[in-house]
Amino acid sequence: VNVIETIDGFRKTLDAERLDGKTVGLVPTMGFLHEGHVALMRRAATECDVAAATIFVNPLQFAAGEDLSTYPRDIDGDTRAASDAGIDHLFVPDLSEMYPGDVHTTVSVAGESDGLEGASRPTHFAGVATVVAKLFNIAGPCRAYFGEKDWQQLQVVRRMVADLSFPIEVVGCPIVRADDGLALSSRNAYLSSAERAAAPVLHRALVDGLAAVERGVADREAADVMARTISAEPLAQLDYAEVVGDRLLVAARFGSTRLIDNLGVTR
Ligand code: AMP
Repeated sequence: VNVIETIDGFRKTLDAERLDGKTVGLVPTMGFLHEGHVALMRRAATECDVAAATIFVNPLQFAAGEDLSTYPRDIDGDTRAASDAGIDHLFVPDLSEMYPGDVHTTVSVAGESDGLEGASRPTHFAGVATVVAKLFNIAGPCRAYFGEKDWQQLQVVRRMVADLSFPIEVVGCPIVRADDGLALSSRNAYLSSAERAAAPVLHRALVDGLAAVERGVADREAADVMARTISAEPLAQLDYAEVVGDRLLVAARFGSTRLIDNLGVTR
């Protein structure tokens, strides 16, 4: 894998690939890669002539008091994992490369950013949309792979691309889970063993919610079913359990670690 640290270097590399007639796949991440990230990378490598990934822990999407300073990092392990997953070009800018000074220009996506994560983390999606817009402008025309794990983020990115005519095809990819149902997340590394044992309650709640919807109960009641499953776990502190359109979405804290998950329903 070709590791690139500068904006100019990454841009020129992908421009040269396209000039060669190659299609480009892009996988933006914050690193500490797990099998969920690897699935996106393998898919980009399979579906595109050239696969690129980015690792950047974006401070704009963390609020004061969130886990920016403790966010897990392992650049050597990530480089190996990206290489094994078929990534050709890995962009790993440092903070001063991405944000050499104050940022006065931000992208906010109204509507899609409201509620759910947006209610709990009011500045989060503007931070995400801004860095993704910047990465898209650096990478240029490509297919960009995002996980359904961050369902609301995927809707925010799709809307931004449509509204601002980015030359990007957004590809949503299914959630990769551990055997016990827990959605893989870099933040799972924060969990104590007791919290890790409790965390699959999120997925169980979604399965309970799905069964409720399939029984034909009202969305409100299916949301209550999910909330009750999570609240029955002593180590979980419910943040939200909601049904939005054809999606069941939950968030809870396990100690100081906040986890999210979601599941689609077919009615
Ligand atoms: P992150 O490094 O957490 O910003 O995630 C980078 C990308 O990987 C995002 O598009 C996430 O939605 C995706 N992702 C993270 N965890 C998973 C997972 N368990 N399954 C599928 N995609 C994931």
